[in-house]
Amino acid sequence: MGYDETYRRSIDEPEAFWREQAALIHWHTPPERILDQSHPPFRRWFVGGTTNLCYNAVDRHLATRPDQLALVAISTETNITREITYTELYREVNTFAAVLGELDVVKGDRVVIYMPNMAEAVFAMLACARIGAIHSVVFGGFAAHNLALRIDDAEPKLLICADAGMRGGKIIPYKPLVDLALREAKSPPPHVLIVRRDLDPDMTLVPGRDVDYAERRVAHEDASVPVEWLESNEPSYLLYTSGTTGKPKGVQRDVGGYAVALALSMTTIFDVAPGQVMFSTSDVGWAVGHSYNVYGPLIGGATSLLYEGLPTGPDPGIWWRLCERYGVRTMFSSPTGIRVLKKQDPSWLKKYDLSALRWLFLAGEPLDEPTATWISSGIGKSVIDNYWQTETGWPAITLLPGLELKPVKFGSPGFPNLGYRMRIIDEQSGADVAPNEKGVLVIEPPLPPGCLTTIWRDDERYVRSYFGHFRELLYSSLDWAVRDTDGYTFILGRTDDVINVAGHRLGTREIEESVATLGAVAEVAVVGIHDELKGQVPAVFATLKQGVTDDPRDVALAMQRRVVELLGGVARPGCVYVVNALPKTRSGKLLRRSLQALMQNTDPGDLSTLDDPNALEEIRAVIARGP
Ligand code: ATP
Ligand code: MG
Repeated sequence: MGYDETYRRSIDEPEAFWREQAALIHWHTPPERILDQSHPPFRRWFVGGTTNLCYNAVDRHLATRPDQLALVAISTETNITREITYTELYREVNTFAAVLGELDVVKGDRVVIYMPNMAEAVFAMLACARIGAIHSVVFGGFAAHNLALRIDDAEPKLLICADAGMRGGKIIPYKPLVDLALREAKSPPPHVLIVRRDLDPDMTLVPGRDVDYAERRVAHEDASVPVEWLESNEPSYLLYTSGTTGKPKGVQRDVGGYAVALALSMTTIFDVAPGQVMFSTSDVGWAVGHSYNVYGPLIGGATSLLYEGLPTGPDPGIWWRLCERYGVRTMFSSPTGIRVLKKQDPSWLKKYDLSALRWLFLAGEPLDEPTATWISSGIGKSVIDNYWQTETGWPAITLLPGLELKPVKFGSPGFPNLGYRMRIIDEQSGADVAPNEKGVLVIEPPLPPGCLTTIWRDDERYVRSYFGHFRELLYSSLDWAVRDTDGYTFILGRTDDVINVAGHRLGTREIEESVATLGAVAEVAVVGIHDELKGQVPAVFATLKQGVTDDPRDVALAMQRRVVELLGGVARPGCVYVVNALPKTRSGKLLRRSLQALMQNTDPGDLSTLDDPNALEEIRAVIARGP
């Protein structure tokens, strides 16, 4: 069956469709009901079935692939590579689970994990899943305050951290940040479990509170910890959103629906069969890391590569060298990651044997055509844009080459994923827009398996934040989209990224894309700023590629001309600034609202997820000097 038929079936006969997909995973007790929609917009999938994420990711493969690599954790920071088979993974996870048990962590307890991309982060997640504890991985790059906020919300029984992370050869001690965060937190956990990498010789332990994992693990090396069978809809983990638009929300995921969705996606979307290799460059602290560094590939019996290091360290060939060494079939990264490489010498793309590599998936933010073309022709592989959110947990709009490869249209992630009742509606009237007309992307309930079940301990906020925008009960995270006559969906950015110039509504993305067609430009962000005459005009911020020696004033003029040439005079930028770096969240998303606030002297909102506050300060200085 091709995509169209399969998709239609998933929408028209959801219960029959998902009953079949349920067979992709192991159930301790089979579901009694496939779908319960009695309290919309809430829905429950596979009601009454009991299962376990860890069992499906690890135990289930012991009989069929005990000696196959499950996880390869590579660090170009510590220069340590660990190759871990399914049998070894089973042992490590059981040992970790036994230590959790010793620290009184039981089913339903929350465990905050604050670690870089290292093997123990995966062991810790799976160990929590095994015993039914709810993990909440907090991205290791976050400052103490961000960590404290999440601790206050999740109220964990335990915090697990590494002594330190590393970035670009620089050691970043984590433990002092944990100490600070726990001092700030309202109800700090009684214990901190530390996985030492001996990176921070000055690390101090708080007696009675801090526990050294290496010391505890010795007694449990042969442990075998029973699996806690969970009802399909019980919480498996919490994960906070990137905070691009506001305060991060604690997304809650279930067990059965998530496992089934991931299992399905491994073959239909990512085209990775058991025994094949997937390499996602994400951090375990993001949604992609959870789904496609940990649970997806392991549930699918594949080998997962986990990478700690820069895309350019030790040199810009590192990703492709790993693809060659491990015979990676499917790679997953972000447009931001590719734009980092785009600043480098393109000959790095050609140095390695990529014959095993079939697909490069990119997600997280709009993929502009110049970047897509650059990487696709550079490595000679199909590049597949896919659109999703922390909330959805797996792709919402994508091509599904494992099912049927439809032609790639640059600029579009493709079609609704299986089970997603996707519509594009008019913001005001709520009616479906015609093809080629812009509207707001919404999902009609029930959300498919894999998507969030609620916001942690805040059902009311869940309903208000996601279903409260329109008269009808429709899920939306307020992205702006258009569907062409062939059914391809294009994401135009967020609804608050729309600029209204003299009554014309322009997507910041359209303007960014036209600027990006200039060869000298590496990255660009566009925001709307207030204008007496026109209401709003676009302001352009761009970085230039490494090695570009043109006068920034000439490039700025060229950008202005290019926008007018491609989009018409109405889109003419009011000002153009060439800067060294753009403000991004820790997950690499452009924080446009911070630029807008700078330009207009307004409140930028929550900036705690900003990666490098200096970038913003630098831009402030550039603005002060004038365009
Ligand atoms: P917050 O919701 O906390 O403000 P966020 O929306 O950035 O933060 P994520 O869940 O990490 O948090 O990101 C999801 C968003 O990223 C989507 O709603 C969309 O705006 C953008 N996005 C993701 N993938 C794509 C893509 N392929 N094309 C265009 N936009 C994308
Ligand atoms: Mg969002």
